[in-house]
Amino acid sequence: MALGRLTNMEVGWAKPAQPHVLKPAVFLDKDGTLIVDVPYNVDPEQIQLQPGAASAVQRLHQAGYALVVVSNQSGVARGYFAEAALKTVEQRLQELLGVPLAGFYYCPHYPTGVVPEYAIACSCRKPEPGMLLQAAADLHLDMSRSWMIGDILNDVEAAHRAGCCAILIDNGNETEWEMTEGRSPDFTAPDMAIAANFILHQAKDDDTNGFDADVSRSLRPSARVGDR
Ligand SMILES: [Mg+2]
Ligand SMILES: [Zn+2]
Repeated sequence: MALGRLTNMEVGWAKPAQPHVLKPAVFLDKDGTLIVDVPYNVDPEQIQLQPGAASAVQRLHQAGYALVVVSNQSGVARGYFAEAALKTVEQRLQELLGVPLAGFYYCPHYPTGVVPEYAIACSCRKPEPGMLLQAAADLHLDMSRSWMIGDILNDVEAAHRAGCCAILIDNGNETEWEMTEGRSPDFTAPDMAIAANFILHQAKDDDTNGFDADVSRSLRPSARVGDR
């Protein structure tokens, strides 16, 4: 778990782990995906799960997916709250979801922030893939079998650049629809329950295919790490 580990470093290429220990993950955006988006909130009392989120992540956990939160938290760089406040957020989220999180990664940066040490153009703020790549290295994840679930296209792009598939929860939070390279979701779902169903059915199909089916290859035409 690397809470804060990304603060002072640029994230580079993950060192490949032993293939037999690689595990699939579901990367989860926090605000607007797992929880109701209250902008820049770190008050645990105001954290409220999206409908169906807890049972969705519980099913993914039971199916063997590592659950990894990846969240842009520019409120740190903007001076709205201290980085330490995110520890409380992580604890409350974990409690509400009722399932172990394999990782909780956040990007505290923002290029035009007011707190100098965080006011940088980093490689972890989504759509950059840095948080996902760091998690892949830390947790020995198989990105070709991993998914990201998010509510905006920056989540989708980050996933594709990190080498995994992406589901967009189309709940109205994406408003710009800038459809440049790597930003087309592999699946669009109205909520977390349907997103989880899709991932679980996809995994089942892979098993029954009897060969090493690569979901990402079949669903996603172009995006690979290093495409840009
Ligand atoms: Mg979001
Ligand atoms: Zn960052």
